Amino acid sequence: MIIIENVYDLLIVGAGPAGMTAAIYAKRAKLNTLMFEKSFPGGQVVNTYEVDNYPGLPNISGYELVDKMRSHAENLGIEIKTEEINAIDIHEPVKVIKTDKNEYKTKTLIIATGAKWKKLGVKGEKELTGLGVSYCATCDGAFYNGKTVAVIGGGDVAVEDAIFLSNLCKKVYLLHRRDELRAVKILQDKLFELENIEILWNTQVKEVIGENKVEKITVINTSTKDEYELEIDGLFVGIGTEPNINFFEDILDKDAQGYIITDVNCETNVKGIYAAGDVANKPLRQIVTAVSDGAVAVYSAERYIIENF
Ligand code: NAP
Repeated sequence: MIIIENVYDLLIVGAGPAGMTAAIYAKRAKLNTLMFEKSFPGGQVVNTYEVDNYPGLPNISGYELVDKMRSHAENLGIEIKTEEINAIDIHEPVKVIKTDKNEYKTKTLIIATGAKWKKLGVKGEKELTGLGVSYCATCDGAFYNGKTVAVIGGGDVAVEDAIFLSNLCKKVYLLHRRDELRAVKILQDKLFELENIEILWNTQVKEVIGENKVEKITVINTSTKDEYELEIDGLFVGIGTEPNINFFEDILDKDAQGYIITDVNCETNVKGIYAAGDVANKPLRQIVTAVSDGAVAVYSAERYIIENF
C-alpha cells in the first residue's frame, strides 16, 4: 500500500441524500473523508413538502428527512466544508480538487451534486423570476394565499406542487404539454379529487407578462392552436431538472441530457471517480435511488483504494 501524505481517501461533493449516505458509509468504513457543499446541506429534497415513499418514514418532510441524514453523518464525524469546486486535475492515481478557497488531494471522488430546475425559456420568465415566477412551491407558496397560480409540468414535482398550492390558493391551473400526466398514479388520484385545480391539457406557455410582478401568461393549446391569456398571480415551473456539473465538463462522459454516465458500480469513465444520485444518468431519480448510489459508490471507492494504493 502506497501512503501519500495529505491525500484524502475520499472527497464527496454535494450534501444531499446521495452525498450524506456516502458520508455515512465512508465514516463507517474508516475512510479519511471530507465533504463539500457550496451553500447549505440537503440538496433539492429540502424543498419537498412531504416525502411519502421513503420506506419506514411515511409523510416526513424533505427538510426533516435530510436533516436526520445530516445528523447521522455528523454524529459519525463527517466534516462538511462550505466551498465551491472550481476545477479538478487528475495526476493518476491522485486527483486534485480546487475549490474557491483551497486545493485538496484525494484517492477517490464521489460527485453527488444533484440537479437544478430546468427553465421554460420563454419571454418574461427570467425578468419575472422572484417577482411571481418560482421554481419552488414549498419555498414561495405562502406568498399566494387566497390567490390564483399556474403550475407547469406533468411529473411528480408539478403534481405535488399543484396539490400543495391547492391548500393555500383560491385557484390552481396545472398546465401540461400532453394529454397524460407522467406523475405516479397515487399523486394523480389526489390531484383529480381537488376541486380548485383545473388541468389545462396540451397547453404550453408562450410568454410571462407583468410590470414588476406576474400578471398573466400567454398560452397555446397545441392541439387546437388556440392562443389565449390566463390571469394569474404566480407561476410555478416544475418541468424537471438538469445536472449540476459545470466543473467536470471536460473529463467525464455524459448522456444526451448532460447526466454523468456510470456503470452499476457508480463508476464514471475516470477510474476512482464516481457519480451518485440525481447527477448520474439513471431511469429513476428518487431519494431511495440516490441513497442506494451513495452506498454503492463508497463500496466501489473502497475496492479501488485497496487495489491501487
Ligand atoms: P420529470 O419527471 O422529468 O417531469 C417533467 C415534466 O415536465 C414532464 O411532465 C414533462 O412533460 C414536462 N416538461 C419538460 N420540459 C418541459 C417544457 N419545456 N415545457 C413544458 N413541460 C415540460 O421531472 P420532475 O417532476 O421534476 O421529477 C424529477 C424526478 O424527481 C423524477 O424522477 C421524479 O420521479 C422524482 N421525484 C420524486 C418524488 C417522490 O418520489 N416523492 C417527488 C418529486 C420528484 P412530458 O411528460 O411531456 O415529458
